[in-house]
Amino acid sequence: PTNINKLGDEYLRLAYHGLRAKDKSFNADLVTDFDENLPKINVLAQEIGRVLLNLFTNAFYATHQKQKKSGEVYKPMVSVKTALKDKGIEITVKDNGIGIPEAIKDKIMQPFFTTKPSGEGTGLGLSLSYDIVVKAHGGTIAIDSRENDYTVFTILLPIE
Ligand code: ADP
Ligand code: MG
Repeated sequence: PTNINKLGDEYLRLAYHGLRAKDKSFNADLVTDFDENLPKINVLAQEIGRVLLNLFTNAFYATHQKQKKSGEVYKPMVSVKTALKDKGIEITVKDNGIGIPEAIKDKIMQPFFTTKPSGEGTGLGLSLSYDIVVKAHGGTIAIDSRENDYTVFTILLPIE
């Protein structure tokens, strides 16, 4: 049984400090909104952790890209929210980064698709996340994004 709030909080910090260790110019506001009434759920915690780590890393990366373009006026922000829904536990990861252009929206879940320079991305994060969340846990992944504005990934993990 896994406490999703604790897992989310741990991996959010891991992603943030991991990126800062590589690049000191990196910073972002972290906003958390954890539902205190979440039940523990039976998931493969390490696998769900990897899904969250990739979502957070992608989100921070997107804000950093935007920061490089916009400079001081821009305030990078990554937020994570959990909520108990009828169908399971919902985890929402939002960033105000560069967004996902319309032209690549249907490609980002494909294995090896990446817009990052070699060495910075493998393009495997989201396709592995699909395998873990959808195939292994019977959950769903929803994406909402606007180019140059925001990206939101919403994961639903069923409580069996
Ligand atoms: P990688 O991070 O190695 O590129 P992923 O499968 O995690 O591989 O993501 C694939 C691509 O989806 C990224 O290269 C990027 O173009 C896009 N993407 C994913 N998350 C975001 C995000 N939060 N904001 C903007 N683009 C994103
Ligand atoms: Mg990634």
